[in-house]
Amino acid sequence: RTSQRRDFNIVVLGAGGVGKSCLTAQFVQNIWIESYDPTIEDSYRKQIDVDLGPSSSARGTSTYICNRELYMKTGQGFLLVFSITSPSSLYELQELREQIISIKDDDNVPIVIVGNKSDLEEDRMVSRSKAFAVSQSWGNAPYYETSARRRANVDEVFIDLCRQIIRKDNS
Ligand code: GDP
Repeated sequence: RTSQRRDFNIVVLGAGGVGKSCLTAQFVQNIWIESYDPTIEDSYRKQIDVDLGPSSSARGTSTYICNRELYMKTGQGFLLVFSITSPSSLYELQELREQIISIKDDDNVPIVIVGNKSDLEEDRMVSRSKAFAVSQSWGNAPYYETSARRRANVDEVFIDLCRQIIRKDNS
């Protein structure tokens, strides 16, 4: 079993208020922060293990950058976050994805679609099937529902994205 150390540049994008800061705080610091000042741009690092199957694993120090088009260029993978309580926040992701593809000039960029606030099921306004339809139209980008509040599926979305980046680099 071999282990490699490497860095990933992950960019977290989405409409204001969908929970990008809260998700990132849960992932990086394991804390729930009820309210943040509106975040323009932040950068964080966290070390994680990504298990790639029986023969290898990657130990990476990862950088997370929020919110700026500028980072679309350097980002290797993107978490595109909407809120399951806000149809317009899902709609906004379409345009972000198009910007990423055009800035990187690559239509095969590692992306994970994140429907956050899954704890607010009673306020859901985006069905799973709607989100899956978007995922399919994006070449089957993985779709996860998360709750930053309950720390549900938070690690999973970052780890899935790292796996995609590794797979892409190896191919
Ligand atoms: P950002 O603008 O995308 O960075 O959004 P924030 O992380 O600042 O979150 C916006 C608001 O949504 C805050 O009031 C958070 O408390 C709330 N929020 C974020 N994630 C969740 C979640 O998973 N569940 C619930 N119920 N509220 C959340």
